[in-house]
Amino acid sequence: MTDDAPAFYNAWSYVMGTVKNVLLCAWHVTRNWHQNLNKIKNPEKRKIVNKALKAVKEELCLETFSKLMKQFIQELLNDSDTCEFGKYFQQNYAKRPEKWAYCYRKGMGINTNMYLESLHKKIKYHYFEGKHVKRHCQETCLDIAIDGLLKLVRDLIFQRLIKFTKRTISSDKLSKIVNSHRLGLEIQSNRIEKLADNEWKIESNHSNYIICKKEEECHRLCNIKCTACKICIHSYTCSCVDNLIRGNICKHIHKVAKMFLNDTHNEEIQEIYVNQNDILKETFDVLPCSSKSANNDGHESPPQKKLKAFLLLLMNTSLH
Ligand SMILES: [Zn+2]
Ligand SMILES: [Zn+2]
Ligand SMILES: [Zn+2]
Repeated sequence: MTDDAPAFYNAWSYVMGTVKNVLLCAWHVTRNWHQNLNKIKNPEKRKIVNKALKAVKEELCLETFSKLMKQFIQELLNDSDTCEFGKYFQQNYAKRPEKWAYCYRKGMGINTNMYLESLHKKIKYHYFEGKHVKRHCQETCLDIAIDGLLKLVRDLIFQRLIKFTKRTISSDKLSKIVNSHRLGLEIQSNRIEKLADNEWKIESNHSNYIICKKEEECHRLCNIKCTACKICIHSYTCSCVDNLIRGNICKHIHKVAKMFLNDTHNEEIQEIYVNQNDILKETFDVLPCSSKSANNDGHESPPQKKLKAFLLLLMNTSLH
């Protein structure tokens, strides 16, 4: 996921190969649309088009989306006030909806490229010390760039190690979970309907949401979880934008999970969590470095064990 400039993706695909889904950051798309909305001089119509743009972008059903798009473009082109914007939209966005429409990014867990942007800023101002390192630059420039990138990789590896041992997630993600948990508790229970063993429907003013509980328990060492509801991001799915597109544990999931928690035997659930803690304990028992020297009878030395455990931890943990 990047902005619309090809520099990042070109570099990525050159080294890592092409990818299945090339997505545009939702913020950049909205910003570009807003800037071009001034092609519509009538403020009332501008407002209506802006609202329609949002609806089209956020439509989650593929079929409804293509119907909406056809109708939307036709209406834009048929009105002389909105015709110019219609042409702009048709030329720049209608041909590649898979890059910006939400119905093409369901369950991908990403909607904005703020991580890439913050990394870019970090590289530019911290590691390149604000110096302008051009893409076709001279030797001294290249020196600064390589030196900066090596330092960046070193620091990122340490940050990741610290993150894993402290088991923290970004405060932004955490505050979103806390917030949606609070909102979830406000949902009235009479708006929930049980459809099947692991499926619920929540009615809302605008539409209905379907919440499904995954059959399998998550055995990854997840950081994205709600301890109050005893769930992680992998425990449930919901058909709302907050879960399906933004990858948050949405308020509907908290509500259903809390109900489910109260309805079922707690021992069963607790057992699973004890097991997860055991896995964690085992991993971390190996982690602290022992000062005793390694014996030479073919056993791994403590640092080797530590390194292996750390690599295992890296591989088994989802990349959130
Ligand atoms: Zn999980
Ligand atoms: Zn939801
Ligand atoms: Zn919760």
